[in-house]
Amino acid sequence: MPLPLADLLITGGSVLPGDPRDGRFARADVLVRDGLIAAIGPDLEAPGAERVDATGAFVLPGFVDTHHHLWEASLRGLTADWSALDFFWGVRAHHAGAHEARDVHAGTYAGAVAALDAGITTVLDAAHAVNTPEHAREGLRAVRESGVRALFCYGLTTTPGAEAFTAEQRLADLRALHANEFTSQNAATRVRLGVAVNDIGSVPWTRTRTEFHLARELGLPSTVHSRSLWGELSAPEITWLHRDGLLAADQVHAHANAATDGELALLAEAGAAVSSTPETEVMLGLGYPALARAAELGIPTGLGTDIQAGSPADPFAWMRAALQAVRGQRHQRVLETGGSTGLGTPTPSVRDVLHHATLGGARALGLGGVTGSLEVGKAADVLVLRTDGVHQRPVVDPVATVVLHSRASDVDTVLVAGEVVKRAGLLLGGRADRATDLADTTWARLTPRITSRGGLLPPRPEGVLKHMAAAGAANAPEWARS
Ligand SMILES: [Zn+2]
Repeated sequence: MPLPLADLLITGGSVLPGDPRDGRFARADVLVRDGLIAAIGPDLEAPGAERVDATGAFVLPGFVDTHHHLWEASLRGLTADWSALDFFWGVRAHHAGAHEARDVHAGTYAGAVAALDAGITTVLDAAHAVNTPEHAREGLRAVRESGVRALFCYGLTTTPGAEAFTAEQRLADLRALHANEFTSQNAATRVRLGVAVNDIGSVPWTRTRTEFHLARELGLPSTVHSRSLWGELSAPEITWLHRDGLLAADQVHAHANAATDGELALLAEAGAAVSSTPETEVMLGLGYPALARAAELGIPTGLGTDIQAGSPADPFAWMRAALQAVRGQRHQRVLETGGSTGLGTPTPSVRDVLHHATLGGARALGLGGVTGSLEVGKAADVLVLRTDGVHQRPVVDPVATVVLHSRASDVDTVLVAGEVVKRAGLLLGGRADRATDLADTTWARLTPRITSRGGLLPPRPEGVLKHMAAAGAANAPEWARS
């Protein structure tokens, strides 16, 4: 039985309670008790409580990352100048299979600690390098050791090179993990179990159906890469799921860039969520983020990192990339049709993206009642953001200061469920040394394996894309095959 955490009082900060979109900053203290926010108000009395002085700083809800493959932090920087196709071929088809269970542990731990350092307190980990049952358990162990709040989504993807762990065995292993460790999970459980189903079209439709049915049977939320490919590699995936009765409210559809407005309406009707990862979507070539289109239909919509192989775990970067990509796309359309005189107020706003990075993301993960905003009774997932940087003053609009003028290095203190994981700018519990050590050691271990399997980016055999397109068509639902 763990000892109850001592009361903690965050004093004197400029606190942002309620939906961050409303920007209602107020000078207040925040009392944390038993992992929850017990009170928010001026001059709170809490004799004996440990104190965190937030004078002159912002007190914000922790950020929520709705799509992240934490294990890929073992490959930081590798995919810098790659396209989505290079990524599929290099990382998914090759390097995933080169990861031993201890490499998945190391990457996942390093990835989660970097997330915490930047103020991310909740993450959906789409753990798709499950080459053996041990890989799943090592990834899960790393998430738990980091201290982050997580929806650990067991990856059902068959990794090339790890076919010995069959599709049927994966389903059975997911059942076993659920039965052994997660039968009593509820929304407030720090690390919960979910399912990351196979990319649609990459496996026969009967298997796609089985995976979604299993998630439903076990009562587990699920996530899927959705509508992120274009042209001959694309398919009306959301329409297929809808027609087969497989859409549900506890699903996170990652990317959805190529989704039509009609398909987004199907997600809205089902209550399913969308995750946009603007940095990777724009840089790898998945298309402009669906973020604003989805949000405008009332879909719970969050932001995320996706892959640390090519992007930082940095919510400030997500928010700015979202503004740049979505506004850029919308502006361009106006400029090309009506010229500069057609420009109106840009959307989304800084308030919108702050919402998506916090409460919107929490709602997308089904955790809107637990985290994503500072409210009495919610988990104490809190960050203190310094505002004394030369890059931040004056503070004309606090929301703009957070979104446009703050950096991950301004994150001073981070609490997850009341546990202080970062204080005075430093990660606690030996996390920083351990994470850098594990990341470096793992990369050193992986390098010869990757070299012997064709190098950092193995040459793509001719015809492999045609093969992918043909497989996608063959894996359509029976009734959709032409
Ligand atoms: Zn992904």
